[in-house]
Amino acid sequence: MSEQVKKIGVLTSGGDASGMNATIRSIVRYAIYKKLEVIGYYEGFKGLILNNYTVLTGNSVGGIIDRGGTFLYTARSEEFKTKEGLAAAKKNLDLNKIDALVIIGGDGSFRGASDLSCLGINSVGIPATIDNDVYGTDLSLGFDTALNVIISLISKIRDTASSHERIFVIEVMGRNSGELAIRSSLASGADYVLIPEIKVDLVKISNAIKNHREGKRHTLVVVAEGAAKATDVAASIKLLVEHEVRVSVLGHIQRGGSPSAVDRILAAQFAQKAIDFLISGGRNAMVGLQNNKVKTVPFEEVFGAKKQIDRNLYDLTHILAL
Ligand code: ATP
Repeated sequence: MSEQVKKIGVLTSGGDASGMNATIRSIVRYAIYKKLEVIGYYEGFKGLILNNYTVLTGNSVGGIIDRGGTFLYTARSEEFKTKEGLAAAKKNLDLNKIDALVIIGGDGSFRGASDLSCLGINSVGIPATIDNDVYGTDLSLGFDTALNVIISLISKIRDTASSHERIFVIEVMGRNSGELAIRSSLASGADYVLIPEIKVDLVKISNAIKNHREGKRHTLVVVAEGAAKATDVAASIKLLVEHEVRVSVLGHIQRGGSPSAVDRILAAQFAQKAIDFLISGGRNAMVGLQNNKVKTVPFEEVFGAKKQIDRNLYDLTHILAL
């Protein structure tokens, strides 16, 4: 059994995701309930290096449960990946008598946490990334909110596409993962979805759109940014199809906004598990949702495999568009 945890640090790292604030609130309030002290580091690992932190109280996290972004701010720190950066972080954590860290972010942030564990600083990770690409959890915080933002935007695009009998190519986030693209396509009734995990054949897709069933007023093509550029897809379709083709790149609007109920509830569940795990002597693992149960997954396991897309959902999108 590891040493007793009395004081913890919490930080948000990597890309922001809705639900990070709700998670910080839950971490702070549940930790205080369990008689722990909590400090929050600003701007992720950068805050550890600069020793830039604030003492968190129950009151200090009031009124943030429904706010997007992260009030502790987030950053990507190249310095933290260096030996010197890591040593500076360790020195400051020792100075502040931090027994363990709660790292809210994606798998890159957990790799950083793992590096710290080699210097004796222990952590628990909470997956928060709109890409939902972290192995070991069915859901990452921010994914459900982003999905809801995207489907409400696609709904608006469908109105105009249908009115004018147009083809729309809609680019959504997902550099390495088709999760957002697949599920937003299925949920919004899109006709085609292009994802990084499956090779894109633009000629085939253009031909398919050309031969699409008669009487169709709109065609919606959803492209994950890592699969192709929406403008290239549109240009390829234009070569073969007479209808007007328009492009809509949804961009950063997908990240922001108030977290969904799913993300707020998940934030509370993940936070409770993370704190209980640290108190019980657990170290260097991520909390995750597996088959509707909150579990802990060792960092090594998280890094050891790539999360697979649900191929059935991908196929179903196309079947239902016939
Ligand atoms: P997201 O994918 O949502 O952006 P993430 O946590 O994966 O989230 P990254 O930018 O990959 O985001 O990582 C955040 C920070 O974690 C980096 O800026 C860096 O400080 C640290 N980090 C990332 N990868 C590593 C690594 N391999 N080793 C050590 N530290 C890392």
